[in-house]
Amino acid sequence: MLFNRNNITNASMLINSDSLVLKEQSLLLAKTIMCLNENAPCNNCLQCQKIEHNNNVDVLIYPKEKSAIIVEEMLEIVESVLLTPYEHDKKVYILNNFSSTNIQAQNKLLKTLEEMPNNVYFILNVENETKVLPTIKSRCNKIYVPNKNNNDLYDSLKEFNLTVDEKNEIVAFCNHSQQNAFDYAQNETFFPLLNFVFDLWTNLRNSSQILKYSSKLYQIKSEFMTFLRLYSLILHNVFYAKIGKFDMISEPDKIELYKILSKDFSIKSLINISKYCIKVNQKLDSNCNHNMVVDNFLLTILQERARWQQ
Ligand SMILES: [Zn+2]
Repeated sequence: MLFNRNNITNASMLINSDSLVLKEQSLLLAKTIMCLNENAPCNNCLQCQKIEHNNNVDVLIYPKEKSAIIVEEMLEIVESVLLTPYEHDKKVYILNNFSSTNIQAQNKLLKTLEEMPNNVYFILNVENETKVLPTIKSRCNKIYVPNKNNNDLYDSLKEFNLTVDEKNEIVAFCNHSQQNAFDYAQNETFFPLLNFVFDLWTNLRNSSQILKYSSKLYQIKSEFMTFLRLYSLILHNVFYAKIGKFDMISEPDKIELYKILSKDFSIKSLINISKYCIKVNQKLDSNCNHNMVVDNFLLTILQERARWQQ
């Protein structure tokens, strides 16, 4: 159990890159705080049930409309802290997506965190710790929420109409992210895209083939980030196959395939490609021409492959 009622502080910061995992865990923490039973969270009492059904009037979840809390909303939060709870003797504020809250709005919360009333609890859900003011961080108890394990991720996909193999493939490529797993399960282009990435890994061998892959990548501009994420995850597996760390490969039933793919690259060239993937991300963030980024990416893969074969 991640939370223990006896050592919950008034300001907690939950940290994980996956917003869905954070939402889930912040509700669990809210239940642990508000539960009417000794053995919290019981999931049965009125308070737990109301949190479960999103209608606990003393658990306030922000932002209400926008994707991140804005200054006006933060002022509303700060002013309401001193009001007594409606039904319980405590109240909880869950601030989602807190690392996307701008600095001005974060600043408005500082004084409240410094002088917290005993019966008020703040839970800040943070996907990117570097975007949170150090003064906020130092006033919170930081809790690094672990990622979901593969069994839990697999179980979470039961509501989708997918085969066992498809679910396994999603788990292997979601990078431990519940959000990614759900996105992939709902997106019918996911499996064709994954096949395309494997095809590229297997068959892009000389410059005459660049056109085939680049024209496809020009077309799927909106999915390029997913493409790059899948490409990088396969790269990790190829790398582990290369250095003999087979237990680290995220798809155990494809070890032989990864061994074959690893024969075309040196360790150094795999590291170089991995570094280049990060560069591609930066280039796309800074609005470089998409087609040019694609061309350079494919050329880099070929160069690194050729370097090994010289
Ligand atoms: Zn309860």
